[in-house]
Amino acid sequence: MLLRHTTTEIKERKALTVNPAKTCQPIGAMYAALGVHGCLPHSHGSQGCYAYHRSTLTRHYKEPVMAATSAFTEGASVFGGQANLVQAIDNIFKVYEPEVIAVHTTCLSETIGDDIPQIVNKANADGKIPTGKYVIHCNTPSYVGSHVTGFSNMAKAMVDYFAEKNGHKSKAINLIPGFVEPADMAEIKRMATVMGVESIMFPDTSNVLNGPLTGKFKMYPEGGVTVDQLKLTGAGAGTIALGELGAGAAARALDAKCKVPCKVLNLPIGLHDTDIFIDTLRRMAGVNVPDAITLERGQLVDAISDYHQYLYGKRVALVGDPDQLLALARFLVALDMKPVYIVTGSPAGKKYAAALKETVSEAAPDAKIKVPGDMFLFHQWIKQEPVDLIIGNTYAKYIARDEDIPLVRHGFPIMDRMGHSYFSTFGYRGALRLLEKMLEALLDRKDRDSTDIDFELVL
Ligand code: SF4
Repeated sequence: MLLRHTTTEIKERKALTVNPAKTCQPIGAMYAALGVHGCLPHSHGSQGCYAYHRSTLTRHYKEPVMAATSAFTEGASVFGGQANLVQAIDNIFKVYEPEVIAVHTTCLSETIGDDIPQIVNKANADGKIPTGKYVIHCNTPSYVGSHVTGFSNMAKAMVDYFAEKNGHKSKAINLIPGFVEPADMAEIKRMATVMGVESIMFPDTSNVLNGPLTGKFKMYPEGGVTVDQLKLTGAGAGTIALGELGAGAAARALDAKCKVPCKVLNLPIGLHDTDIFIDTLRRMAGVNVPDAITLERGQLVDAISDYHQYLYGKRVALVGDPDQLLALARFLVALDMKPVYIVTGSPAGKKYAAALKETVSEAAPDAKIKVPGDMFLFHQWIKQEPVDLIIGNTYAKYIARDEDIPLVRHGFPIMDRMGHSYFSTFGYRGALRLLEKMLEALLDRKDRDSTDIDFELVL
């Protein structure tokens, strides 16, 4: 029992987090920056932070994650990192030739109080930023928020730096996806294309962190939103932000800056939230829902009705990022499952916690929800009263193993399985995949636990 020190008895804790259900802000900012074509993320802090952020992303995506660092040593830690950042900007543009450098801060540079716009202005005045190239930034102090906050901050920075009014209105809809998989971003774009909707997605890590192996190293992969597209977002017909925590701030900033009306929706996970996404896209773009989308929806409804009996009443424990949990919980409730324990490590606020509670109130009136909480408490709840299924990232596997409960991996990070980068859980097709994964886990357990007498060929 690797987690044998987890006690069943729960004691009130205020200042201590054990086994946190989140990672740090710069990881989200770095991930978002990779969703801009030709962009090199830059970590303004020490090399240790930067190595951790890159390795966490690399372990999850199994792709080399390119980034740079200000490489703080003792001097920068005491006197500030201006000299390091100006030198870094000069080196990066000369050696790696990106279109954009996206700077995010770390705990150390935030504690020092480095003023990034002032430093970038100095670099510009010193002639370190070539014409037509850009340095953008966001602040990501990791003692507040989580990787989701960092993603949100960098997505908003894209609006702050690039979106502009050009006197025209285009038909394009801006799609802001929150901290989700490259495969999810690709699926959102695919649905928009099938609907006949012109769209600009930002950030867009599809074909960046799930790209092909070609035998040739490419510092800047094919994918990612371009700077020209980012500028055009200010002329869009509307914006759909998917996930309040990951995408809401960027959508509202675009509305405030360029008067592009926005809708902030749940992530399109499961039947109902995909319905809402499709309907919002239809209304905003003034198109009809094509038969191809109706077919996908019908297939999902058919699969749900075929397998509902194996899902009905199953107790599920969910741990992960807030936007994912809200949509997942809604899907589970629609399947007549019971999301009884829900924990996110991200401080998502009271309004979010209330929305989550409301979502599960009928299906699981006694559900235990902690926002923000940790996986130690999550484990304690499971010890007190077990569940049939856990849905969470790779760290949840220790709990699943100790308590002998099936685990469906979902969220960030997943470091011990493949598939998340390539197979989306968004839209009707993604919901089918989620359904398949949950059924695999539950029915494999049923087969394993069956006696010779009740072991069935046909389920
Ligand atoms: S929490 Fe702060 S110090 Fe730790 S890796 Fe993240 S940015 Fe660096």
